[in-house]
Amino acid sequence: MKHSKIAIIGAGSVGSTTAYALLLKNIAAEIILVDVNEVRCRGEILDLSDALSFDGTSKIRLGNAQDASQADIIVIAAGKPQGPGEKRLELLKANKPIFEAIFSAIKPINPHAIVIIVTNPLDLMTHYAQSLTDLPRNQVFGTGTFLDTLRLRGIIAEKTGVACESVDAYILGEHGDLQFPAWSSAQIAGIPIAQYPGIQKKDLNDIADAVKNKAYEIISCKGSTYFGIATCVARMCEAIVFDQKLVMPLSTYIPEYTMCLSLPVILGENGIEKILPIPLDSDEQKKLIGSIQQLKNCL
Ligand code: NAD
Repeated sequence: MKHSKIAIIGAGSVGSTTAYALLLKNIAAEIILVDVNEVRCRGEILDLSDALSFDGTSKIRLGNAQDASQADIIVIAAGKPQGPGEKRLELLKANKPIFEAIFSAIKPINPHAIVIIVTNPLDLMTHYAQSLTDLPRNQVFGTGTFLDTLRLRGIIAEKTGVACESVDAYILGEHGDLQFPAWSSAQIAGIPIAQYPGIQKKDLNDIADAVKNKAYEIISCKGSTYFGIATCVARMCEAIVFDQKLVMPLSTYIPEYTMCLSLPVILGENGIEKILPIPLDSDEQKKLIGSIQQLKNCL
């Protein structure tokens, strides 16, 4: 176990719920929360420290950018969230200056740190973060379509009556409206998803729409999303701390496309250890290129 001091910059709904998920899983020796709103941050720490009274082994404390810069894993969840009906790409203008401030404040950064980007628009903020630090690209990556993929597996599992873990399917591309399911490689027990008993072509379209719209639906009902993404970030930290070589789709720099977006990767103690060459059919390949084009237009 190498990486166990975890800093979270941005202690709003996503950052503080991530701290809670890390505490419950006993993944970190120390959690440092950093936020420009120090009063709110202090409140979150006091509240979270109550959760430690049960069987927690982590320590949690308030920190500043310098403390965060020396952590083993730095999670960045600072920035404006989507409002009802707002697209993720619309957040770029507000969140770019926040990243400039954060990355200049955490210099010099621990050269071995792994930086996980959560702030939206996810792929563009990951791309931007990579340009603001000298860390190797495999150490700076985003949550990408990991959450969308878990949503996809959850809906397929419910529809087919098998456990989520038995569904092998990915959402790829942009963490946003241009994401797409890689149906051509999706399967359950080696059975291609389109041939699984009871699954019709129309079901696949409905499932893809339900995944894409889930965040909008949650935001329209309760204002923001945080439990799902916090659980994903905690799972990513666990894979890094315990060098688990977990395969998940994360937003990473794809040299072939000179852009960050999600493809399946192997995540271990060194960050992204390998990008896996998932086979795509011609329609999926077109959608991937569409994602890249749209993201590049926003740069
Ligand atoms: P929030 O408003 O509850 O919290 C954001 C926090 O960032 C606030 O506490 C604010 O004070 C802090 N902050 C702003 N500037 C800062 C700076 N320079 N340094 C430190 N802290 C700073 O928002 P939230 O709901 O927690 O969402 C945070 C981000 O996560 C948003 O961009 C949201 O879109 C994104 N998000 C991503 C996913 C995903 O799947 N990747 C899912 C949900 C939310």
